[in-house]
Amino acid sequence: MNDFAPLARAAELARSFLATLPARPVRESGSLADLRRTLVLPLPDTGVPPVQVIDELFRAADPGIVAMAGPRYFGFVIGGSLPVATAADWLTSAWDQNAGLWVDSPAAAIVEDVAAGWLLDLFGLPTTASVGFVTGGQMANFTCLAAARHAVLDRAGWDVEQRGLQGAPVVNVVVGDEAHATIFSALRYLGLGAATARRVATDGQGRMRTDALRDVLATCVGPTIVCAQAGNVNTGAFDPLEEIASLAREREAWLHVDGAFGLWAAASPAHHHLTAGVAGADSWASDGHKWLNVPYDSGFAIVKDAAVHRAAMSIGAAYLVAGDAGRRDALDWVPELSRRARGFAVYAALRSLGRRGAAELVERCCTLARRMAGVLRAAPGVEILNEVVLNQVLARFTPPDGGDADAFTRTVIDRVQEDGTCWLAGTTWHGRGAMRVSVSNWSTTAADIDRSAAAILRQARR
Ligand SMILES: *Cc1c(COP(=O)(O)O)cnc(C)c1O
Repeated sequence: MNDFAPLARAAELARSFLATLPARPVRESGSLADLRRTLVLPLPDTGVPPVQVIDELFRAADPGIVAMAGPRYFGFVIGGSLPVATAADWLTSAWDQNAGLWVDSPAAAIVEDVAAGWLLDLFGLPTTASVGFVTGGQMANFTCLAAARHAVLDRAGWDVEQRGLQGAPVVNVVVGDEAHATIFSALRYLGLGAATARRVATDGQGRMRTDALRDVLATCVGPTIVCAQAGNVNTGAFDPLEEIASLAREREAWLHVDGAFGLWAAASPAHHHLTAGVAGADSWASDGHKWLNVPYDSGFAIVKDAAVHRAAMSIGAAYLVAGDAGRRDALDWVPELSRRARGFAVYAALRSLGRRGAAELVERCCTLARRMAGVLRAAPGVEILNEVVLNQVLARFTPPDGGDADAFTRTVIDRVQEDGTCWLAGTTWHGRGAMRVSVSNWSTTAADIDRSAAAILRQARR
């Protein structure tokens, strides 16, 4: 019963899967009916031998596995997983540390501390900021905005952790008109409400307009939180953070920056300028599972004032033995208590990349995004809708007969998904249908871009 054969088998299967990644069709190969047939089984009365379970799971799941970790997956902003990060993630599972408290796992705690320091260094953020290792950008935005809520209400003499929002001073929340959906869900979870956020007009690239922000802030009385964005999920554009930070400071507002993927621009000397002013914010959300290419689930909630971060998150219970100074208790910085030791994969990825490797990863993806935009733009009937400042490309397709470009762009996207050479999805950008290409995988090469661009153009000409 207690042998490790399933682990060896899983490692073997994982290797074989990863080796097929560059060649297999990117989309899933099976239908819902296929997957139901092989995966939907009754709970057995008697257990199935472990190696058989792993073998059959691998085989049965395969038709429903998308080559998302591979080099030609350009949907959403996904990233892959560096083999070193996957390996560290396997160890994380094998060690099975509950990383909530120092006493549960000193190794997990200290590795998170080290990785936190490296992240702050690469992002160009204050070295005294606190970092919570959360599940992703959603929880990073939630955690940071919980800290924001604490701080602005504390300044107004209100203890939101004890008294909640019942009878509290009104909190003004100001967001760019193109804030990510997870900002609004975070506002919902925090009792601030999604619809109460004041939306600031954006420019042609989706950047917050500072003249509009000034006007909105002029009407905000009392506690105020401003949410800016580093990396628009469609265009990759950055809000003008320097000016936003100074406007927020004038109003004593808390400034939060959602940099789920865009904050990584700071790690690249060639793109660092996009993040100018970012250090002037009070909190930052970013992801490891996107551009750092570590496995899911990995995000970072970073707060300039560690005391505020802890006040908003820490769990007090008599049986929880808190560590002394210098001994990190992860539960001070994240919403969870029991949790995966997700610092190990981040540590492994950063150590293997180094400062130069992190910069190269960002720069390579941006160069490849420009290459994709260049090839597509050169073809008749293709328009690139955004300034390709980072890793995101928006393409729009006009049919040869000059008909409906929205419908035709959707058709091209459907055909490309069906074709399987690469995978990407659609979006609506300022009222116009577009194909959205995100280059965020360590293994993507120029040949992958050329092959994918050729597949896209082939489908557009069909
Ligand atoms: C992806 C993304 C998020 C959400 O991150 P998850 O890791 O998917 O929870 C938030 N903001 C932006 C700008 C994003 O691109």
